[in-house]
Amino acid sequence: MVPLIDLKIQHKSIAAEIEAAIKNVCENTAFILSDEMKTFEAEFAACCGAKHGIGVANGTDALFLALKAVGVKDGDEVIVPANTFIATAAAVSHANAVPVFVDADPETYCISPDKIKTAITEKTKAILPVHLYGHPADMDAIMSIARANGLKVVEDCAQAHGTLYKGKPVGSIGDAAGFSFYPSKTLGAYGDAGIVLTNSDEVCENLKLLRDNGRTTWYEHSIIGYNSRLDGIQAAVLRVKLKYLDKWVEARRAHAKQYAQLLGDVAGLSLPVEKPDMKHSYYVYVVRVENRDDVMAQLKEKGCGCGVHYPVPLHLQPAYAFLGGKQGDHPVSEAYAKQIISIPMFPELTPEQLAEAAKIIKEVLK
Ligand SMILES: *Cc1c(COP(=O)(O)O)cnc(C)c1O
Repeated sequence: MVPLIDLKIQHKSIAAEIEAAIKNVCENTAFILSDEMKTFEAEFAACCGAKHGIGVANGTDALFLALKAVGVKDGDEVIVPANTFIATAAAVSHANAVPVFVDADPETYCISPDKIKTAITEKTKAILPVHLYGHPADMDAIMSIARANGLKVVEDCAQAHGTLYKGKPVGSIGDAAGFSFYPSKTLGAYGDAGIVLTNSDEVCENLKLLRDNGRTTWYEHSIIGYNSRLDGIQAAVLRVKLKYLDKWVEARRAHAKQYAQLLGDVAGLSLPVEKPDMKHSYYVYVVRVENRDDVMAQLKEKGCGCGVHYPVPLHLQPAYAFLGGKQGDHPVSEAYAKQIISIPMFPELTPEQLAEAAKIIKEVLK
């Protein structure tokens, strides 16, 4: 069986370093707002070319607190893609704002700038593009729409560690950006963790209050904030893993190249694209087929792990039924949701495993 993802191999390769890092945190009992956290914040921000990094408890909080920090208020509208993980929209809802769903670009699967334009109303306050699967959203177009309409941009980078847009790391382009370090993400912690990046001193100060109960001094609280801090143990783990991020992203990219060579001419199979001047980090490798459910069942039976990111567009999720979304609203997202399959992709995937996965896919699609 070729697994869709295997986290254990990566752990084994760095276990000694990880254990030493965790032991160090324990011996210093430096668990909350610790030096490890501050050092990781600085290191991660620097590697993304951003001025500030503010560690938080998870990726959902990173997006939610970033939206609040850039000024999203109750009842504001925030434009989000229809085809993403639900946390993107949930972050908007947590800020008491309203997600307005927009369809995808059929080539990159990321939010369509043209369709953003038609979704803007007087209540729109921000755009929350997702660099989906590790391919960057069309940031020049999105930033120019935002500036022309006085909107903020918060990037959802949960799937895009190591992704470049025209040579620039994502997370440094909008007004703020949220990353998740959920264990299976391209840079994953050993539990939940997240970070917000921003180049704005003011947004940074807002976030430091928001994540730590509005604390200005130990006993003084200037706002009613939240408790959402990056755990010291997770920061120590992430500092170890950050050193390998480039290597792991390059391994993912090499696998993608190999898949393209082996599967490029298979009839009825659409492979992911990497647009010119973009660097895809391949958090997941998503292909499209007709008869997806049937194909998936056969892949699993023959030993090729697979998954779907994501089978139900957000405007059709029960959680968002109250917004009145219906079938036909976002045709690209709806069609793709029925066609997409994620196939094995993780840095430690061996050439033999990859060849085996490709062979099974060819057999099934014959
Ligand atoms: C994983 C993910 C999140 C949420 O991150 P958590 O750390 O699980 O809260 C948000 N947006 C996208 C696109 C994600 O993939």
